Amino acid sequence: MGKRGRAPYRILVGRFATATLLGALGFWINCHPIPLFSNIELVLGNTLILLCASRLGLAYTLWCAALAISGLAMTWGNFYIYLTYGLEALVVWQLRRRGWYLLYADFFYWCLIGMPLTALLIQQFFTIPTDYQLVTVVKQGFNGLLYTALASLISLLLPAGWFRRIRQQPHVTRNFREKLVHAVLVMLSLVFMVSMLVASRNMVVTHQQLLASNLHERSAHLVHEYHRYLDYHQRVVSLAGQWFSNGIAPSQWQARLNQLHRQNAGFLTMLVADEAGQVIAASPGQHLLDGTSGLNVADRHYFTVPMNEHRPYLSDLLQGRGFGQDPIIAISAPIMGPGHRPIGIVEGSLDLAGIAAENDQSHWGDVTTVLTDATGRIVFASEGLRLNTLARFEYQELKQIEGSGLALLNIHSTSLSVGEYFYHQVALDQGWQLYVLLPYRPMAERMESYFLVSTALLVVGMLLAVLLTRQISAYLTAPLEFLAEKLTLSQGSEDPLSRLPALPRGSASEIRTLFDELDTNRIALKAYQDSLEQLVTTRTAQLEAANQKLAQQAHRDGLTGAYNRRYFDLSFEVARQHCVRSGSHLALALIDIDHFKSINDSHGHLVGDDCLKNLVSLIHRYFGRKLDLLARYGGEEFVLLLPQSDADEVLRRLESLRRTVAQSAVSESADGEPLYITISIGVLVTHPQYSSQQSDWLMAADSALYQAKSGGRNRLCRAETSDQSQPIQDIV
Ligand code: GH3
Ligand code: MG
Ligand code: MG
Repeated sequence: MGKRGRAPYRILVGRFATATLLGALGFWINCHPIPLFSNIELVLGNTLILLCASRLGLAYTLWCAALAISGLAMTWGNFYIYLTYGLEALVVWQLRRRGWYLLYADFFYWCLIGMPLTALLIQQFFTIPTDYQLVTVVKQGFNGLLYTALASLISLLLPAGWFRRIRQQPHVTRNFREKLVHAVLVMLSLVFMVSMLVASRNMVVTHQQLLASNLHERSAHLVHEYHRYLDYHQRVVSLAGQWFSNGIAPSQWQARLNQLHRQNAGFLTMLVADEAGQVIAASPGQHLLDGTSGLNVADRHYFTVPMNEHRPYLSDLLQGRGFGQDPIIAISAPIMGPGHRPIGIVEGSLDLAGIAAENDQSHWGDVTTVLTDATGRIVFASEGLRLNTLARFEYQELKQIEGSGLALLNIHSTSLSVGEYFYHQVALDQGWQLYVLLPYRPMAERMESYFLVSTALLVVGMLLAVLLTRQISAYLTAPLEFLAEKLTLSQGSEDPLSRLPALPRGSASEIRTLFDELDTNRIALKAYQDSLEQLVTTRTAQLEAANQKLAQQAHRDGLTGAYNRRYFDLSFEVARQHCVRSGSHLALALIDIDHFKSINDSHGHLVGDDCLKNLVSLIHRYFGRKLDLLARYGGEEFVLLLPQSDADEVLRRLESLRRTVAQSAVSESADGEPLYITISIGVLVTHPQYSSQQSDWLMAADSALYQAKSGGRNRLCRAETSDQSQPIQDIV
């Protein structure tokens, strides 16, 4: 059973520290999402999770993911992202373990798991309009792809040694095509997404600036219109007050009032009250005056203020009374009697629909307005806003948009952009406020469709890039693969010296040159290899012959061709042992030419040499067995070693040799006379155990030779093992 070795403590700490560091960095980045448009934000902290998943083990990856996702969960207040992003870390880690590239692993996750899962969760737990769901889901995938591309780029550029010691994910050997396609996809998707984001950002900014100037212009115009409208009607009421003060008889007030009202349709109603607050003239509504009690307005501000302070008055928003329940604004002015004493008031209830008619002019497009009085109640609101007049204007202030002078508010209590408006607020007199609003949704919709189209284009672009890059890499890899295959095949082909088949069509010219060059070199190399083999065979044969010759020369005497003394020394013990094993006798004879010096002296050395050579041939003729060994022992002295010898036979043959030599002309003198020589022989024939020392044998034979010399030469003497030798003639 194999025990899995645990990594050293230091490496475990290194891994934990790295995962924690990456997670903490991811946490911080996720706490600062980058706003894109609408409610859409970019999340880049997950880049760190992917980096961790691509290098370290599962436990570290999940730890890093838990840290980084917490940052986002805190910012968004959503907890379902623990599921989607946690699952992402898990799937990416698993696919990385199988050798997938980060980019492909995450693309796989978002297409097959991430986006469907997000769609499901949104449907279950959030109330988001359907068209908005698609954007939210696609945005998640887009965002995922963006931080994956970023992580892939960092991975590609990261120095090789950084994660080397703590790495747990396997290293994968990939071919050129895979590497090229991946690198191009990383680059392309990053460049595409970043430029798309920059372009959309610019679009948003430009659009917002346009909106801002539109809003400002509109509000300036509205303020002007508002003032004009109020001023005009205030002037009308003030003038009426002056008319009634300046001696128009009260009996004519009703007629005058009717005339005034006809000329100024902006008033819903008009009335004149006496100093007790009793209405004495009204338009329309003559019938009100006919009532028994009549109508008294003494409790109204529009009565008391002009009566007490002798000045015109503009009321806040009122609910109409007597003439109906419409919300009105009362404008009143005192009617001054003699002695500068107010004797009554004239009042006009300004019709709010009049302001509305001015406001809802269509050439302002989507612009809508809300007018509130000092207490915050709605005086007027454009129809599209579906707000009720007289209700309080409730809204949620969302954010200031930097650089554009725009602010966002939401007048419907929903977290989505549906109820959001850009707005500009202007303070009017008496604490009235004018809000000019532009709906946010059309712009968000435009951005969303831009975003969806761009994402679709990105996917198409990436598919095209894959096809194109594979094609480009084929220019290089196809010929290389072909080359590798052909070179391998040609090793065992029948005719290695023939050229390889041509490269496939469409191969790049550089590859073609390389291919031709390699093929030429391959053939040249093969030919050279063949010639080299031939040369080696020849040289080896020559060397063997030379060695043989050398060995021969080392053992032979150069003049006579007999063995030399060295070889005799080497062979003696071998021959003796041979005789020991075979139980036979061994003979050792020393042969010396008699008076050889005189031959040299009289006929010269060359003739002497000739004698030596011919003597050797003669001896070989007598002793030609394979076992017999003749060696030149010195000058004109030879030693014969004869194993497995019968003593009598040896003696007989030696004697025969001596005689033959004496009778044969071994050379001739300068003048053609035959030359004769004689030899003396001393021989020891005995059993091999006689002595293991070669010198003993030689000494014995030498003393026999000495006997032969001293006995008159030209004779054979046998050494006796008892150390008594005698001439053969004597023995025979
Ligand atoms: P003895 O009968 O006592 O042997 O008389 P010898 O003259 O043969 O003996 P000695 O030892 O006095 O002379 C040997 C001579 O052999 C001397 C030398 O000139 C001759 N000799 C030795 N080696 C060679 C050789 O290689 N070539 C020739 N031509 N002569 C040689
Ligand atoms: Mg001699
Ligand atoms: Mg001699």
